[in-house]
Amino acid sequence: MKKVFILLFGVIVLVSVFLQIQSTVSAQSIEGIPSKYEKEINYLIDEEIIFGYPDQSFRPKNDVSRQEAATMIGRALDLDNKQRNTVFTDVDSYHYGSGYIDSAVDKGIITGYPDGTFRPNKTITRGEMAALISRAFTLNGHQDLSFNDVSPSNPFYPYVDDVASANVTTGYPDGTFKPNRVITREEFSLLVARSMNSEYRSQQDQNDNQNQQEEDLKVIDEKIVTADSLNVRSGPGTSNDVVGTLSTASAVSVYKKDGGWAYVAKGNVEGWVSAYYLIDKPRSSHVIALDPGHGGNDPGAAANGLLEKEVVLDVGKIAEEYLEDAGLEVFMTRDTDIYHTLDNRVRLATDNKADAFVSIHANAFPDSSVNGVETFYSAAGLSNRAYSSLKLSQFINERLVKEMNMTNRGVKEAGYRVIKATSLPSALTEIGFLTNKSDADKLKQVHYREAAARAISLGVVDYYNWEENN
Ligand SMILES: [Zn+2]
Repeated sequence: MKKVFILLFGVIVLVSVFLQIQSTVSAQSIEGIPSKYEKEINYLIDEEIIFGYPDQSFRPKNDVSRQEAATMIGRALDLDNKQRNTVFTDVDSYHYGSGYIDSAVDKGIITGYPDGTFRPNKTITRGEMAALISRAFTLNGHQDLSFNDVSPSNPFYPYVDDVASANVTTGYPDGTFKPNRVITREEFSLLVARSMNSEYRSQQDQNDNQNQQEEDLKVIDEKIVTADSLNVRSGPGTSNDVVGTLSTASAVSVYKKDGGWAYVAKGNVEGWVSAYYLIDKPRSSHVIALDPGHGGNDPGAAANGLLEKEVVLDVGKIAEEYLEDAGLEVFMTRDTDIYHTLDNRVRLATDNKADAFVSIHANAFPDSSVNGVETFYSAAGLSNRAYSSLKLSQFINERLVKEMNMTNRGVKEAGYRVIKATSLPSALTEIGFLTNKSDADKLKQVHYREAAARAISLGVVDYYNWEENN
């Protein structure tokens, strides 16, 4: 009897806790819902599509991840959310969104990447969101899209056309849609609410909202952060409070400038930063091939407890993230522990439309006192290719010396096959000596692997900026 009572009591406690949680997520108690989207967001909260954070905040400027987008769309369509295994190698049954992700794949609403992953934590852009919404709510376009940054050759054209034709979005008053911009929670909410309920689509309302939205969103420039962690302040000057930080290689939108300061935004972070730490974002689209050396049965150098193939793969994968965040497309010759022949690496890069190639290596030498970074280019082939390779190598090496705080062994000419037998501007960079205790100690640390990745990414951005201005 006592047992039954305890059990019953337990159930009652659970139920009341549950009810409490339910009541605390009511729209009224969530802080930070922007008044201009109050109707739409409260509608989604009432429909239990979107919730506040555990601290009762809404955080309208936060990014939306692919997993969150799938979950919210899944709730909107009332899909089966029972957690289960999915076709993706990185989403198993323990993932909270696995049910919605699996259901959405079944319905053809979402797809993964060619390597079999879903990348649940990756942020979602406005273009990707348009594709998701168009498929989820079966919207149909008029083929008369007029955004000046979404041409018919843009892969997102048909989807942006669908959502625009259905009056789910009008884009920005300057005639753009900004398909590559990461979508914020408030923008996402607006699109989902309008897709679910046509009441929110009325043309007049929507234009009003859209114009208001644009008032505080007039982008005058796009830049890339070069600092490891850049302070974002409430005003232009170091005496102002720090309101956030931006990480390295992030692409940011600039809204206004004041002396050496720029007012920027990225996801939920918005404020003033020192313009000294911003460099131009390449204007055209580029595909950079990253080639982590060795792999599989070929470990490369091995010393001081490190294997070259592991270090360079790790650095390559971090650099991939940085470069993607900077708005560049990245092709990895390998992102797992596999081996490719040297000729294969070159061919894969060309086949995948890369326009430059960076091979990443770590050094070894019998004399353990030898240390530092160095970068190689090949003078073979046409003179402009050789010169571009030299510039690419110089930009990367310069960044490496600074970020790794290692000896500068310079940029050298060499006939290594991956940089010689290719038509692409190419560099082979050596990010330190595994055989040197001090270099190896650095390469064991996440901090320095990130620094090496940052150097490679920023060197590549420097190179594209140079190329575009020449
Ligand atoms: Zn190597």
